[in-house]
Amino acid sequence: MKKRILLLAGGQSGEHEVSLMSARSVLAALPRDQFDVTPVAISKQGRWLPPTDTRQALENGSAESGGDLVLHRVASAEGYDAVFPLLHGPMGEDGTVQGLLTLAGIPFVGSGVLGSAVSMDKVMTKQVLASAGIPQVDWRLAVRREWNNDADGVRARAAELGFPLFVKPANLGSSVGISKVRGPHELDAALDLAFSLDRRVILEAMTAGRPRELEVGVLGNDAPMASPVGELRFSSEFYDYETKYTEGRAEVHIPAPIPEDVARRVRELALVAFRALDCAGLARVDFFYLEDSGELVLNEVNTMPGFTQTSMYPKLFEAAGVGYSELVTRLVELALEER
Ligand code: ATP
Ligand code: MG
Ligand code: MG
Ligand code: MG
Repeated sequence: MKKRILLLAGGQSGEHEVSLMSARSVLAALPRDQFDVTPVAISKQGRWLPPTDTRQALENGSAESGGDLVLHRVASAEGYDAVFPLLHGPMGEDGTVQGLLTLAGIPFVGSGVLGSAVSMDKVMTKQVLASAGIPQVDWRLAVRREWNNDADGVRARAAELGFPLFVKPANLGSSVGISKVRGPHELDAALDLAFSLDRRVILEAMTAGRPRELEVGVLGNDAPMASPVGELRFSSEFYDYETKYTEGRAEVHIPAPIPEDVARRVRELALVAFRALDCAGLARVDFFYLEDSGELVLNEVNTMPGFTQTSMYPKLFEAAGVGYSELVTRLVELALEER
């Protein structure tokens, strides 16, 4: 019997378009002899679209309007063997959709409520990983109310970290809303931008010098494996949205040309982080590596990484001998696995 899979894509976050791109690739790659896949696009307003509108959204790469309330569609999602919530950012990768699917009793690909929520929030991630002994940059939290009522207090907290520093919405991805702040004169604009996207904002010390950027994939549930390590190279100031999604701006090197012991440590730390955060199915764990000092810090954990044919996560597993179709098949099997 073919497995019935519901593929969710789009969604309400700043990563709507990225998600639809990933979904097109996954839809094409799930083997038709094993899976009967129904894609459902979620509009930017959070409404779940019927089949024709979904097809349109996948073609256009965006779903602006239309659709039904989530709850109607989840009720009609009964009868699916598994859901592939290929959604990035808030209202998709952060435990909300995972909670809905858990209540509906439908197995799904990727981390559950806890792992998704904690990994989505950069502050919670840092707190959990610090207690697991994982090296990270210094950071501070600020919430919107403080920025509105005591801006000087927030500015002082930022100054403790020194400049340049990074200002980020705590819950987002694809570098949306992230600024590299070179001095106090750039701080207010960066905070305004981040707070326009999230109630919680993280201020992060910059690594001592420009880091090399390493990424590793993790695959599995309670006995996860790590992929080879990949490296991203680009000439822009940091790995921003444009660099991520403009063809030809970033180079991917797999395996990363780094010492063997650094690669081993990246893979080990990624597995420790995956377990500490209670991730499941998949995650892409991102690191900064300072070649001169040999320092390695964990930047973040993405529980639903970009998933087009040319995205880092599938490429890392391809290098490990797991092709794209095999990888998405494996992810559905992991969703159905007894834990
Ligand atoms: P993703 O699309 O991978 O989910 P994201 O939106 O969660 O990304 P980050 O990975 O936290 O964002 O940051 C984006 C980029 O900003 C990094 O890849 C790096 O280039 C730069 N960056 C972020 N934080 C720091 C830091 N503390 N020191 C140096 N560079 C940083
Ligand atoms: Mg991220
Ligand atoms: Mg992300
Ligand atoms: Mg990142």
